[in-house]
Amino acid sequence: MTTPSSPTPPPDPTPPTRGASTIAVHGDGGRKSDWSPVVPPIVQSTTFVNPVGSTEEVLYTRYGNNPNQLEIGRKYALLEGAESALFLSSGMGATALAHLSILRPGDHLVSSLWIYGGTRRLFDEEFGRFGIEVTYVDPDEPRQWRASLRKNTRAIFIETPTNPLLRVIDLGPIAVTARSHGVALLVDATFASPINFRPLAHGADVAITSATKYLNGHSDVIAGAVAGSSSIIDEITRLMRLWGQAIDPHAAWLIDRGMRTLPLRMARHNENGMAIARWASGHPKITKVHYPGLATHPDHMVASSTLDGFGGMVGLEVEGGVRAAERLLKRLTLIQHAPSLAGVESLISEPRLTSHVALSPEARAAIGIADGFVRLSCGIEDSPDLVADLEHALAPS
Ligand SMILES: *Cc1c(COP(=O)(O)O)cnc(C)c1O
Repeated sequence: MTTPSSPTPPPDPTPPTRGASTIAVHGDGGRKSDWSPVVPPIVQSTTFVNPVGSTEEVLYTRYGNNPNQLEIGRKYALLEGAESALFLSSGMGATALAHLSILRPGDHLVSSLWIYGGTRRLFDEEFGRFGIEVTYVDPDEPRQWRASLRKNTRAIFIETPTNPLLRVIDLGPIAVTARSHGVALLVDATFASPINFRPLAHGADVAITSATKYLNGHSDVIAGAVAGSSSIIDEITRLMRLWGQAIDPHAAWLIDRGMRTLPLRMARHNENGMAIARWASGHPKITKVHYPGLATHPDHMVASSTLDGFGGMVGLEVEGGVRAAERLLKRLTLIQHAPSLAGVESLISEPRLTSHVALSPEARAAIGIADGFVRLSCGIEDSPDLVADLEHALAPS
């Protein structure tokens, strides 16, 4: 029996009252027992000893019920404001299984036109084998969302903010359309992270993130995650056990360590993105700056009212086209020329040769990606050092 002097810790405050920084560090954890490690150990084990005769579900790392896997799922669910969440071995794995959990052969998917190149190829090259048809909608024509729905439409997929123009889509009206037609809304908000934008609070049914990016934040792990209702996450878990995209415990442990500083990192990414966008707006060699925090951005109003931060991604158009962009890339010393994004270090890439390589120069220009366009992922360095690197690289020789 509990006596007044017993060491039983007081009950934890209910997790939803905790702030994102507290959740990022502690998850739903409370007081730990004496002598337990403060940092959860890596449970690098595929299998676990079973009680003889037990009919309980076995623990097996491909099933996603290893302690490291469960830990990050709970933490991410709390950050997204979701009932449940699950990590997978890549962002593409997360996108693929989220869709397969909802779509059946013969179903129809409505997708935004402004999506990650890998996702576009998944839809165009793979969904056909399941008899799933995809219709693309230009989000600049918002009436098309409703107009594209068919009797067999089962889901709408949106990515926001988008790559590389940083367009921000207003989910509210699309969520209303989806709900009234009984269609699921799936949203890849990788570029925002749950610190800047939580899709479920805006009517989405499933939030998808490439944890390779901000969630882990150190450019050393490939992973993805999905968050939503328990019934959707249970179905995605069932698929994961069969299709085999469970995350390795060591990768999960690294993500847990990365997530502890997510809110802190995002604050700096947001600050640096804004500082670089403002600096670039006044630079004579930069003809256009794409950043949702600038009043000149077409979605500045939507971004201001729906995001908690504008992020660290900035699109820059360099005067002089491809040659001027290549000169800039060759003269940078701190900012590395590499694809991918959202790590602590600043990276720069040319969408012309990475995400949008499949398009002709004319097709790229038609969607707003001019030659001379570079995408900068601002890290967490001191912004004056990033500005100095860019200034030097743009200066006449
Ligand atoms: C990188 C990325 C993905 C794919 O994630 P991987 O972890 O590389 O599989 C999906 N969506 C967006 C928006 C991304 O930036």
